[in-house]
Amino acid sequence: MSDVTSAPKYKRVLLKVSGEVLMGEQSYGIDMHTVDAVAAAIKRVAQSGTEICLVIGAGNIFRGLSKAAADMERASADYMGMLATVMNALAMQNALEKIGVQTRVQSAIPMAAIAEPYIRRRAVRHMEKGRVVIFAAGTGNPYFTTDTAAALRAAEMQCDALFKGTSVDGIYSADPKKDPAAKRYDTLSYMDVLAQDLRVMDASAVALMRDNNIPIVVFSIKGRGNLLTVLRGEGTHTVVAADRIA
Ligand code: UDP
Repeated sequence: MSDVTSAPKYKRVLLKVSGEVLMGEQSYGIDMHTVDAVAAAIKRVAQSGTEICLVIGAGNIFRGLSKAAADMERASADYMGMLATVMNALAMQNALEKIGVQTRVQSAIPMAAIAEPYIRRRAVRHMEKGRVVIFAAGTGNPYFTTDTAAALRAAEMQCDALFKGTSVDGIYSADPKKDPAAKRYDTLSYMDVLAQDLRVMDASAVALMRDNNIPIVVFSIKGRGNLLTVLRGEGTHTVVAADRIA
């Protein structure tokens, strides 16, 4: 059991929330109850004294490589995917502000009317003031994903860890929803993930974290309180770092 008095393990973290998480039980779009639940988890982290910033995906709305975009030029489809992340970012901003958490959305594609442009030093300053910064529009470049955007921003913000909130509680040897014999790893090295092609994040995102020695923590964002528990190094999760511990 986590105890509310235990000190946070990390000073600053980046949380990557995939679009799929935000759709909850729906098959498409934004489920506001799920967004509210994720916002409540983020608020608990901010209150615990850890600085937190977010990168939000868009798989719940549009992906450049989806069937719907099959006849489109890849770059145009990817820009649509990046625009979809802005919608998710605004939904998350709204959910956080509603419960009293100060936020700023910074977009990698300038959209002056709804978000600040991405300015690294300004984002750092926001976090130092206790604001939650939500990075929207991925890296601003087609042919990338929001996983890579999360890795890039985690490195730029000098985060102590990149937390990847998914619908499963860590990295498994096979898909646990399909293979009951799948084994969950407590720890893995970056090289294990790359060599075994474990597909928890894009290879480019994993390589960027390896080069900057930033651990990746994969956990289920579904359970209430999970984020804070995992942030304290407790609960079920997988840590990807330079050396496997077990
Ligand atoms: N995307 C992009 N460049 C980026 C980030 C995202 O082109 O730097 C586009 C890409 O088309 C991607 C979509 O935005 O499919 C949504 O992002 P992603 O698939 O990473 O969302 P998630 O799987 O996390 O929900």
